[in-house]
Amino acid sequence: MNVTIKVLDQLKGVRPRKAVLEMPEYHPPLAGRDALRLDFNENTFEPSPRVIERLRTITAEGLTKYPERETVERTVAAHFRLQAEQVLLTNGVDEAIHLMCATFLDAADEAVVWTPSFFMYDVSVQMMTPHLRKVQSDATLTFPVERFMAEITERTKLIIVASPNNPTGAVVSREHLLAIAKAAPHAVLMVDEAYYHFYGESMIDDVATVPNLIVARTFSKAYGMASLRIGMLAGNAMLLKYVRKVSSPYNVNGVALDCLPVAIADEDYLAWYMEQVRVGRERMMEGLREFGVPFFPSHANFVLMNIGPRHKELVATMRAHGVLLRDRSADPGCDGFVRITIGVEEHVKRGLAALRLSLNEIGWRKGQVGEPKVQQATRDGREFE
Ligand code: PMP
Repeated sequence: MNVTIKVLDQLKGVRPRKAVLEMPEYHPPLAGRDALRLDFNENTFEPSPRVIERLRTITAEGLTKYPERETVERTVAAHFRLQAEQVLLTNGVDEAIHLMCATFLDAADEAVVWTPSFFMYDVSVQMMTPHLRKVQSDATLTFPVERFMAEITERTKLIIVASPNNPTGAVVSREHLLAIAKAAPHAVLMVDEAYYHFYGESMIDDVATVPNLIVARTFSKAYGMASLRIGMLAGNAMLLKYVRKVSSPYNVNGVALDCLPVAIADEDYLAWYMEQVRVGRERMMEGLREFGVPFFPSHANFVLMNIGPRHKELVATMRAHGVLLRDRSADPGCDGFVRITIGVEEHVKRGLAALRLSLNEIGWRKGQVGEPKVQQATRDGREFE
């Protein structure tokens, strides 16, 4: 008897919830990333030197303590001109999404998302309810505002919109987000601002006046702390009280909590990194124009390009040149699309040089790229981030 069969036999009737059996899996291709990381939209360099200094002060005894989230929440709230009750720190925005779904979605409720977008929305929503309405962009990959609003029903309880969106870099205007919040007063609108720093427009000041709005921010991207796992939700204190109830009081580790106040205080570092990305993104788009590679205008720290049927070959050739890219072909409406992260100047230069070489090596020609097709969302066999 093989081991799996033996274990299943021992488990008898033990099975996860139906929703868990049916929810999609999330398998980001993280293995073997010992190269220039232009694949995961991380900071490509390092966090503020103040974070590194703070890490050096962490003591062995400090590690024995349960982390205290509340004091840091007060500091973060003051930084964002919010009340402490309007902020919840989370284990990255990933956990924030998970908590939002666990707090607001019953099995009969509906959630509305835009697609293509961040796949954790699908995973966390479908853990709670099968009623996920995905509103597909057309070939421009811009926000389909009218069709999106039309999907909101009385059963909608959660709406999630990333702006800037991943993997497209497209944004949703404040006017449209306010209209969505107004059209669905019985639902919570979560605006995922993971890439806010590379755009500059935020809904965070609107949480004071829009009762059903919650904004998510991460410290994984511009702040360069993806490995520490820390993010936040900002919104109506009443709504966050429910989310806080669902979260563990120790959801954020003490090392991340120690580092966060110094990270947010170092505004010079943040401004520097944002500028590196702004300039680098222009440079990348110029390069792509020169190579004749079609791409989508981006407000984030990445650019999505249309390589066409040779997308896999390009990603493999770039890897051989020591640069990692992310193949987004399996995303709905993204057949042949590859995403490149924008980082500091040196990394953008290396990325562009490798791209020039790789496109030449594979004999890529613009004529190989057809018109983008709009595929419908599927649930299986895709690789997501
Ligand atoms: N939201 C979006 C739109 C993202 O692209 C990502 C990271 N890929 C996240 C959230 C997750 O961020 P965190 O590292 O804070 O969990």
